[in-house]
Amino acid sequence: ARFYRELPKVELHAHLNGSVSFVTMEKLIKRKPHLNIEHSMTAIGKGQRRTLDECFEVFKVIHKLVDTEEDILMVATDVIREFAADGVKYLELRSTPREEKDTRLTKQSYVETAIKAIQQCKSEGLDIDVRFLVAIDRRNGTEVAMETVKLAEEFMLSSGGLVVGIDLSGDPTVGHGKYLLPALEKAKNCGLKLSLHLSEVPSQLEESDLLLNLPPDRIGHGTFLHPEMGGSQHLVDKVVKNNIPLELCLTSNVKGQTVPSYSQHHFRYWYQLGHPSVICTDDKGVFCTDLSQEYQLAASTFDLGHEAVWKLSQQAIDCIFAEEALKEQLKQKWNELQPQVL
Ligand code: 5GP
Repeated sequence: ARFYRELPKVELHAHLNGSVSFVTMEKLIKRKPHLNIEHSMTAIGKGQRRTLDECFEVFKVIHKLVDTEEDILMVATDVIREFAADGVKYLELRSTPREEKDTRLTKQSYVETAIKAIQQCKSEGLDIDVRFLVAIDRRNGTEVAMETVKLAEEFMLSSGGLVVGIDLSGDPTVGHGKYLLPALEKAKNCGLKLSLHLSEVPSQLEESDLLLNLPPDRIGHGTFLHPEMGGSQHLVDKVVKNNIPLELCLTSNVKGQTVPSYSQHHFRYWYQLGHPSVICTDDKGVFCTDLSQEYQLAASTFDLGHEAVWKLSQQAIDCIFAEEALKEQLKQKWNELQPQVL
């Protein structure tokens, strides 16, 4: 276990409100006792499974607990500190800007506060670099997607490079990517990177085919893209030809029941292809995990030795959205740490 914690890691798929730990949740619940929210409503413990629908209900509960600038600042700084403590050297956090009339939270102040948290952690001298992706919730449709891209563009220009891209997420059974295509194209054209949740459920093949034409810079999950899972060689070829890295979240997919067991996770398929596959947590709070544990699970499930695991974490550096100079710094950090960790 020590090896996995000491292993320097890159986390590329972490939803802010899904990453809230037990300890932080405790503080939020104390702040808002009138909501009568218990821990069992905000996390899925060891050995438990939920349907994907039920997972999305969990996010609704968490959103009730995180509805002021103060909450967002605390949640974001706690999440960043926890990733740093787990040996994550580079983190891309993603979150859906939310407006809350009661607390006068606006989408603008939401993103501002997340950025403030990143800057605050930087000034504490934590050994972690953090970037932010502005998330589009697919259920909200064309117009909101377009507004979200505009917001992201503004912040990309004003945040000194901290906002680097767009995430497309939200309930995969709702809405259709074709309505979001203009917003995603606009994002791409203004220099925002795209990480899209694709084929998280079986019914999205046509949508994935369409969105792969953009092409996205990274894919979240991609569970049902390959033929063995009902996808197609055509989709796999598109992903391979464009060399689009996959963000793979083992525990999330098993607990959310889109994948029947760890050993049947599509990590195996893509890893055997030699395709860039990055181990990520998705929602470390909701799914009660951390990145060290996910690497350890991948290693034990797919029989990877320490050298293979090291390579996996090192190759993730090539998939980050931050600037080239930071990539080089991270590669150097890995080289320096290698003799003492491996
Ligand atoms: P937030 O954006 O509020 O910081 O994080 C929670 C949100 O992330 C959820 O409401 C949902 O839109 C998105 N999300 C978190 N986990 C998943 C997931 O496994 N799949 C999809 N499609 N969306 C997710």
